[in-house]
Amino acid sequence: MITVKDLHKSFGDNEVLKGIDAKVDEQEVVCVIGPSGSGKSTFLRCLNLLEEVTSGEVMIDGDVLTDPSVDINEVRSRVGMVFQHFNLFPHMTVLENITIGPKKVKGINKEEAEKNALPLLERVGLSDKADQYPESLSGGQKQRVAIARALAMNPTVMLFDEPTSALDPELVGDVLEVMKGLAREGMTMVVVTHEMGFAREVGDRVLFMDEGVIMEEGDPNQIFENPQNPRTQSFLSKIL
Ligand code: ADP
Ligand code: MG
Repeated sequence: MITVKDLHKSFGDNEVLKGIDAKVDEQEVVCVIGPSGSGKSTFLRCLNLLEEVTSGEVMIDGDVLTDPSVDINEVRSRVGMVFQHFNLFPHMTVLENITIGPKKVKGINKEEAEKNALPLLERVGLSDKADQYPESLSGGQKQRVAIARALAMNPTVMLFDEPTSALDPELVGDVLEVMKGLAREGMTMVVVTHEMGFAREVGDRVLFMDEGVIMEEGDPNQIFENPQNPRTQSFLSKIL
């Protein structure tokens, strides 16, 4: 589903990604862990062209994203993204937040977009919030709206960048439940997270990133119980 070859990304003379090679299979859930500043967000953002790649190749579902002829909006509509800070439109209701993408990018009419949004709201447990504005929602509810909004584009891959890091602890569970449901239904997912419970239960593979490279990867139990790389060991000893 996703193939990344020798991906480099620099901001000015700061090289943040220093040659990433990675593959994500269809229906696989890959969790990315690593210290702050190691390039996890930049890596995810390169996967849906929120960042311009400096060199290397990103392929999604057979298309080379780094090919200049690729339609960026079309690609983004296939790759859903959920951010740490939700990024909902504050002046739009929940329903409008969910339907704006399908209407603007896919040209779906309002009535149909709203009809499609209702099962998504149900799926994230917010059927009664359709007409509310984001400011009246808890962080966990906002994040579930953000997930519904991404799903409304009918993506083939979902990227999550620390989706629960900004939430009060008691709100984390509901968001993780929605993500687990997606995983069970076979969604291909890349999840930057420090939720080790989630990574163990749902993750098929864990990538440990440090200083712009993937230092170690393996199945969650191996990485958490028996990390091989000293950097992985040191990182895990600080967070577990
Ligand atoms: P992580 O998500 O692992 O914490 P990031 O990918 O956010 O790491 O950041 C990695 C490095 O890239 C940091 O040093 C950060 O300052 C730098 N960086 C990220 N985005 C930008 C940007 N838009 N402009 C300049 N530097 C950036
Ligand atoms: Mg980050």
